[in-house]
Amino acid sequence: AASDHDPRGSSTRGWALQQAAAEVLPGGVNSATRYVGHPYAFGGGDGAYVVDLDGNRYLDYHAAFGAILLGHNSPVVDDPVRAAVGTLDLFGLGVTELEVELATRVIEAIPSAEMMIATMSGSEATAQAVRLARAATGRQLLVKFQGGFHGWHDAVARNVISRPELAYGHDPLSAGILDTALESTLIAEFNDLDSVRALFEQFPERIAAVIMEPIPHNVGALVPTQEFVDGLRALTSEHGSLLIFDEVITGFRHALGGYQEICGVRPDLTTFGKGMANGYPIGGLAGPRSLMERFDGQKGDVLLAGTFNGYAIGATAAIATIDHLRANPDFYTRTHALGERMRSGLASIVAELGLEATVAGFGGVFSLYFAAGPIRGYRDLMRNDDQAYAGFHRRMTDKGFLMIPMSLKRNHVSGSHTEEDVDRTLDAARDVLAGMK
Ligand code: PLP
Repeated sequence: AASDHDPRGSSTRGWALQQAAAEVLPGGVNSATRYVGHPYAFGGGDGAYVVDLDGNRYLDYHAAFGAILLGHNSPVVDDPVRAAVGTLDLFGLGVTELEVELATRVIEAIPSAEMMIATMSGSEATAQAVRLARAATGRQLLVKFQGGFHGWHDAVARNVISRPELAYGHDPLSAGILDTALESTLIAEFNDLDSVRALFEQFPERIAAVIMEPIPHNVGALVPTQEFVDGLRALTSEHGSLLIFDEVITGFRHALGGYQEICGVRPDLTTFGKGMANGYPIGGLAGPRSLMERFDGQKGDVLLAGTFNGYAIGATAAIATIDHLRANPDFYTRTHALGERMRSGLASIVAELGLEATVAGFGGVFSLYFAAGPIRGYRDLMRNDDQAYAGFHRRMTDKGFLMIPMSLKRNHVSGSHTEEDVDRTLDAARDVLAGMK
């Protein structure tokens, strides 16, 4: 039934825009996961809220897949960006002060970083990380985990959410990927060190790197055991492979120093993106001098190129975001407390109603799996009831609470959410879940 927050009505401006979009954009969107069968069309945002073209306001936990960290249109970031427009330019020669400032900030914040390169996106950062790892080790193979997402390029675009029977098979996210790229990416199970050990035994001296989301938020929140992250560090070092932490989601969100600050493990390479600039496009790769110097155009051998790398707006936005986080460490205490309030509230509702569901998350991130717990690894997620999640998502949207539509993803509390927001969300979730029993 239509409601105040129904974006699906065929007379809406959102609907009309979606019709026009379908004529000029493949599938009517610029990134495949933005199409979810509903004509979402947003026109603006403010703090924890977004507004669609028909004037409906939603409390936003989707947060542009996590790119919004402080809140929508945060003056903390937008004011410096506004000031930069018109004064900063693109030169294509040499370096700007901003690029040095940005790298300095990132190196100060990230425990394992001694040097940094700026990219335009998270995918570019992971592509560079994989290439650097191959160059540095002289090896070709890459290990990634079932459920991890690291961008759209050939080396990593596989085994994100696949059926169990495909868990170890080729499961590319796209047609058109080189067979050799698919064959060069091996798949292990998260939180299962033996699955990684087995690959090292099967392919001795051939694995260049293990790439991982320290918490695979692309399947919600599989929090790693300490034993697992410590074990991966030891195993990769022992076998002469690199450990890559893809902190595109966890970086700056869970702690200023990323998840590596929290778990104490120092990866060889770290990638960033998303929340680092509160919605402005930028990504980055950091690591020790010995590895990063291979990008040195005179002394090194790995190509660092990109017309817009380190461009002024992204750099300004990232510097402003990082400076804000450094000056306001209570951002982390607040978002972690709100995340905890949401998770424990949802868990009580699930218990009260006797639902087959499990609440997961970390920091300000929360997920609701429609599967009985415990959820420790990817295999446990195969029990998830996607239809139930779709129903939950639709009804929450109708009530004005925006979450990521794909089941097995996660939702984000930003710096702009309040306790009252969380409590209202819990009230709505109780209604919705009770109605689904
Ligand atoms: N790495 C992780 C962990 C991600 O979640 C994503 C995007 O969802 C990427 C890399 C790719 O980043 P981008 O979409 O900026 O290319």
